[in-house]
Amino acid sequence: MLKHNLGYPRIGIQRELKKACEAYWYNKIDSNKLFEIGKKIRKENWKIQEKSGLDLIPCNDFSFYDHVLDMSLLLGCIPDPYLSIPIINEKIDLYFSMARGFQKNGWDVKAMEMTKWFNTNYHYIVPEFHKNQKFHIFSNKIFDEFEEIKKEIKSIPKPVLIGPITYLFLGKEKENSFHRMDLIENLIPVYIQIIKKLKNQGSTWIQIDEPILVLDLSQKEIEAFQYAYQEISKLCSEVNILLTSYFDGILENISLIKDISIQALHIDVIEDPGQLEFILDFLMEKKMILSLGLINGRNIWKNNYVHSIKKIERSIELLGDKRVMIAPNSSLLHIPIDIEYEYSIPNDIKEIICFAKQKIYELSDLENILKGNKDILLKNFDLLEKAKTSSFIHDTKIKERVRKIKENDIKRKSSFKIRQKKQHEKFNFPFFPTTTIGSFPQTKEIRILRSKLRKKELSKKEYENKIQELIVEVIRKQEEINLDVLVHGEFERNDMVEFFSEKLKGFISTDNGWVQSYGSRCVKPPVIYGDVGRIGEMTVDWICFAQSKTKKLMKGMLTGPVTILQWSFVRDDQPISTTAYQIALAIRDEVKSLEDSGIRIIQIDEPALREGLPLKKKDWTSYFNWSIKAFRIASSGVKDETQIHTHMCYSEFNDILKPISDLDADVITIETSRSKMELLKGFSEFSYPNEIGPGVYDIHSPRIPTVEEILDLIKKASNKIPIRNIWINPDCGLKTRKWNEVIKSLKNMTEAAKIARKKMDQLI
Ligand code: GLN
Ligand code: ZN
Repeated sequence: MLKHNLGYPRIGIQRELKKACEAYWYNKIDSNKLFEIGKKIRKENWKIQEKSGLDLIPCNDFSFYDHVLDMSLLLGCIPDPYLSIPIINEKIDLYFSMARGFQKNGWDVKAMEMTKWFNTNYHYIVPEFHKNQKFHIFSNKIFDEFEEIKKEIKSIPKPVLIGPITYLFLGKEKENSFHRMDLIENLIPVYIQIIKKLKNQGSTWIQIDEPILVLDLSQKEIEAFQYAYQEISKLCSEVNILLTSYFDGILENISLIKDISIQALHIDVIEDPGQLEFILDFLMEKKMILSLGLINGRNIWKNNYVHSIKKIERSIELLGDKRVMIAPNSSLLHIPIDIEYEYSIPNDIKEIICFAKQKIYELSDLENILKGNKDILLKNFDLLEKAKTSSFIHDTKIKERVRKIKENDIKRKSSFKIRQKKQHEKFNFPFFPTTTIGSFPQTKEIRILRSKLRKKELSKKEYENKIQELIVEVIRKQEEINLDVLVHGEFERNDMVEFFSEKLKGFISTDNGWVQSYGSRCVKPPVIYGDVGRIGEMTVDWICFAQSKTKKLMKGMLTGPVTILQWSFVRDDQPISTTAYQIALAIRDEVKSLEDSGIRIIQIDEPALREGLPLKKKDWTSYFNWSIKAFRIASSGVKDETQIHTHMCYSEFNDILKPISDLDADVITIETSRSKMELLKGFSEFSYPNEIGPGVYDIHSPRIPTVEEILDLIKKASNKIPIRNIWINPDCGLKTRKWNEVIKSLKNMTEAAKIARKKMDQLI
């Protein structure tokens, strides 16, 4: 039974890669120094994995920015503008220009598009394809790293490639006249060359990642897959191919594996344990090895050895010891590196947490248990048993409250129509009321304040006074812009989830739990280890202070339960829905406190609702069942007259408009302007019942939108949505812009709303 790993975090334990890349971008180090640091990180990672006893160790899982972008360079899939910048000499500069754009010496080339990697928070650079596109080996990174690893370790190195179908799937056609899967015939010869070259360098195993196997595939994708792997199978007498799938099960696509003759198939038995029996049954007749993805590469909890051993023993029973491999389910890219660098996590919690390095060692634990070491099994069993009753983790009052949630708790008192009437009477808004999404520019000044507070150069009181000054300032600015509903600016928040996680029971934050989000950007997700409850008010002081400084309406600003879950490491000892309802109850209490303190409009942000969607459509209903319920628990405890807003990012909502309307928020603001109101297409088929503010200006560039442009978008919206239901607001993310841009843009926005009100008859 071989032990292997799909990929190791590459940012370095002290975020060395981030620091090195940023130093290189700002000309503080040269490329040799950058490469040296990269090499050091790779060496350390390989040594750690070798020391733990892994039989196969991945290489080419390292990346200076993104492994999908690495693939684009390997395959020579480089869009024109970057290639034709004559002043770029080094490949690494070409690479970074694709990732970050190139603005120098009169050149102004934008960065390539970026989007999320399946259902994770990792972002990759989207490959761009043209009709009849040709591919060729352009970068030597994978071959160089293979030479490097050969020198460093005695275990078997295993180069990792993103598979051809997944690679094409992740990209985008730049013209409408073709389908990117049509490129497979041009692409496969290059994959064959790469595999042969690696084999000639001495590679005996190659890992090809095809996570698309867990998705609902189209006929085009199926045909491309069949073609690709018939060709790749021809090489199998020369080198062992391990085909991996992860993030879900592959039963729907198992027929695709039938006709191919690769050596090993990796499946994820964490996300879909149910597939194991079927896959075993299927493999009995084939010669393939089964790689069991048993250790969770997406979450940080200790493995349950009893469960894993059962899966391994069953697989060995049916396939024999030589045809079973064990591994984490996915790359460990999505979790922090080493728990030894955590100093403040209470021991009761720390002892049930594993980061990447510890996860690798769990594989040798499992092997030792199989060899007869029952002590390891018992110790693991005892730890997990102890956690089941730990008073650190469990709070009977909170559990009881979740159990007692009733139908009435997830319903507003009256229907939207009645609420809307009462709210309009009370607020007396004009048509097209204007507002913003919550944050305002987070300037250097604010970051300095926060860092001074952290270093204790500023007392809490002094810090809070400064933040209050900023709030007063932002209110004056909004009054001058003449917005209808104001916000307090969120200056006291570093991050919209972290802020709440620091105030809720059941959460901890880590000292060094960094995970790559994109490029050099890392995040430190909070950990939900226990029952979640509100300890005290979290936002009331700030919002009431802000309200006391204006006669206009101040919108309270909260993060919703689904987003808090989605951007944290969540405990795995109870259904995710239970944890969601606990967070929802805490938010509900906060909503109530805000209402009791006189706040009339409360926004509960759920930017992550869409990205939490399961990969397979068949699982959407159950996801919506609990996520919508959670939002409604949080938002339904208020009077009819209190207006609940919510906000969502990304414009692809056409397919989920109905569930969104089930949230029953009085007003929803949605990021749309980047797609020029693409969102509105869905409104022809489904008439959204409540009020809605599609973003009318794109905050992603410093450009100031003109009054006419905004008016045009308002017109478009008015064609699809009843005018009385339309709000006018920018897209989210004002915190990333500069003040002068924000003021000018918002003034144009309120001006456009004013004109629209006057010309209402022409809008319909
Ligand atoms: N209220 C948040 C803000 O304006 C919403 C952030 C988001 O949409 N991700 O920054
Ligand atoms: Zn948003």
